[in-house]
Amino acid sequence: HESPPPPEVDEKMVFADLKLMRPLMDAIDAAGYLHPTPIQEAVIPPALRGTDVIGQAQTGTGKTAAFLVPFLNRWRPHKLKGPIGVVMTPTRELALQIATEADKLAPSRHFRCVPVYGGTGMQRQLDGLARGCDLVVGTPGRMLDHLQRGSMSLSQVRYAVLDEADRMLDIGFRDDIERILKKCPAERQTLLMSATVPDAIKRLVNRYMRDPVHLHMMPEKPTVDKIRQSYFTVDQDRKFELLKRVIEREKPRQCLIFVERKRWADNLYRDLKRAVPKAAVIHGDLPQSQRERIMAAFRTADIKYLIATDVMSRGIDVNDLSHVINYDLPMDIENYVHRIGRTGRIGKDGIAISFVLPEQGPHLTDIEMMINRLIEPDGIEGFASAAPRATRPPAEVKVVFSGWEAAKEEKPATDEDGWGADDDAKPAGAEGAPDDRKPTFGRRGKRYSNRL
Ligand code: AMP
Repeated sequence: HESPPPPEVDEKMVFADLKLMRPLMDAIDAAGYLHPTPIQEAVIPPALRGTDVIGQAQTGTGKTAAFLVPFLNRWRPHKLKGPIGVVMTPTRELALQIATEADKLAPSRHFRCVPVYGGTGMQRQLDGLARGCDLVVGTPGRMLDHLQRGSMSLSQVRYAVLDEADRMLDIGFRDDIERILKKCPAERQTLLMSATVPDAIKRLVNRYMRDPVHLHMMPEKPTVDKIRQSYFTVDQDRKFELLKRVIEREKPRQCLIFVERKRWADNLYRDLKRAVPKAAVIHGDLPQSQRERIMAAFRTADIKYLIATDVMSRGIDVNDLSHVINYDLPMDIENYVHRIGRTGRIGKDGIAISFVLPEQGPHLTDIEMMINRLIEPDGIEGFASAAPRATRPPAEVKVVFSGWEAAKEEKPATDEDGWGADDDAKPAGAEGAPDDRKPTFGRRGKRYSNRL
């Protein structure tokens, strides 16, 4: 098991600048943290003042300590049964990580954190809660179980955290989260951590937070530089054939295949399981227990080809993934990064291959502008990407060209018809492309995107 790289810190600042309580400072020293990370530097001061905070940051940035430190700083010996703080998080792995971090930074040996999550026996959690505790960290489903059994009360909660809120909503925890928050006293502080802030999150914010400050720590441009990215232009009805060919060529160690719709995912799975061993499908309609089983099998590589929808992409925490295939381009271009970010993690190179419909040229261009990089055309005998005609994105976008791409860039762009049907411009390996593809690409007199 590889441990993730340490987060980037701001070396101009030290934790001592945050004027924390001595016992917490000692714990932070003992943990070996000297400089706060940018998200910690942003979140901790307003949260220490009692302000509600929305922190937009990804895992690996030190976000856990960012939301724990303000709570831990307020810890004093007390006689309450607790919990006084609750952290809701999407997965049991995260719940355990957060609990570990809370134990590491605990300001006193009397500080008690109880992790609660599904998929394991209840007894330890029941005992932990019965003894009384300061902090409960858990998945919303299991927390609600405890509330309903009466094994946990939230009447003393002063500090509530929604961790990876977008992912919790994706998984379908919204009702559970709301029920839990409604059980917490209104006089409390609420923190919300999320990589993205879609409308569904904004609704939660409006309902359950008070004048929050919104701290946006996401990098300006997502970095997917280590990932080798290419695309094929292909008609819908030939995608499956292409998928089989790509699998043959690439021999992926482990591969995620993204589709746009749940039903398409099921359809593709029906075909794929006949073509390759160890295939599975995961999407939001499956019960959580089944999704967890599939994820567990994917982690142990018992599943090699996993078909998924976007909703699942950020929940897929597998480190050794070699390939991501965008069987459908994501409609929401931001999902491109979430998807391909599943590969090439932890400093490894990954490969991302996208299947682009002939009419999706502008969409591909939008994605390239977002990632600030060109995606290479790919080719396999019988399949190809249409040669790009004008690869130059608008002037304000700075694109770092590799030599190969720079060479393409020099080609004069023309607005004549027949691009894509222009055999000269096809990359090697495109000769076998059937003629019936041609009309899809270029009709005389029609102006097409400058990409496909
Ligand atoms: P997180 O994003 O919360 O999952 O944190 C990622 C990793 O960074 C965890 O292993 C933390 O223990 C570690 N970490 C958090 N804050 C700091 C810090 N200020 N300096 C060094 N490491 C840190």
